[in-house]
Amino acid sequence: MRMILIGPPGAGKGTQAARLVDKLQIPHISSGDMLRAAVKEGTKLGLEADGYMKAGKLVPDDVVIGMILERIAKPDAAGGFMLDGFPRTIPQAEALEGAMAKAGVTIDRVLLIEVPDELLVERGVGRRNDPLTGKIYHLKFDPPPSQDVAERLVHRKDDTAEAITERLKYYGSWTSPLIPFYDAKGVLRRVDGVGTPDEVTARITTALAS
Ligand code: ADP
Ligand code: ADP
Repeated sequence: MRMILIGPPGAGKGTQAARLVDKLQIPHISSGDMLRAAVKEGTKLGLEADGYMKAGKLVPDDVVIGMILERIAKPDAAGGFMLDGFPRTIPQAEALEGAMAKAGVTIDRVLLIEVPDELLVERGVGRRNDPLTGKIYHLKFDPPPSQDVAERLVHRKDDTAEAITERLKYYGSWTSPLIPFYDAKGVLRRVDGVGTPDEVTARITTALAS
């Protein structure tokens, strides 16, 4: 299964991806996670991406496209993958189409997780990440299970109300055009992202089968 998760910042893509890849046995490829790792390591790519990310702006297409096409060419992605956060623009989607065509494969499903804007800022501001396990928590909706975990959680620099609002604007202008793009190919499935994570996972499982 080759699939893509699309949705505004805070929609629950990372949360759902973590649950799904276990079941589907495919790698979870998150452009945001890869970029944050590059920033942390101080690589050339990381230095280039850092300023854009802090401000909630999109990293230039050529940088992200190169990074992702290289990643999906790795052996563990040969049988399928779950892309999270990529593509985010039409040029990125076209570059992915080109690479898929060259490899003689296609994208099977694009899942759109829909959550109204007014819930997204609260989800983003309360998000905390566990650097040890990669798990995503929320101070109110999914609090850490122990004091030990709580103490090591990190708050992303771009999870401020200001940067989230900026990301939402970019989503509306640059990413939402992907919805008709994939709908026209017949692979898009819409999933309501409001409800508990379990409810959303159940809806995704149904959508994947349809
Ligand atoms: P969220 O889902 O909360 O918006 P991500 O972790 O997917 O966050 O992305 C964080 C940041 O990384 C984005 O705001 C952007 O700066 C950068 N980024 C991630 N993926 C892409 C992409 N496909 N194209 C351009 N920039 C990206
Ligand atoms: P995305 O990858 O789309 O940016 P995340 O999966 O990181 O989104 O989720 C954003 C925040 O919202 C996290 O703190 C997460 O714990 C929380 N969250 C995820 N799914 C739900 C849900 N169904 N209801 C409430 N909060 C959620």
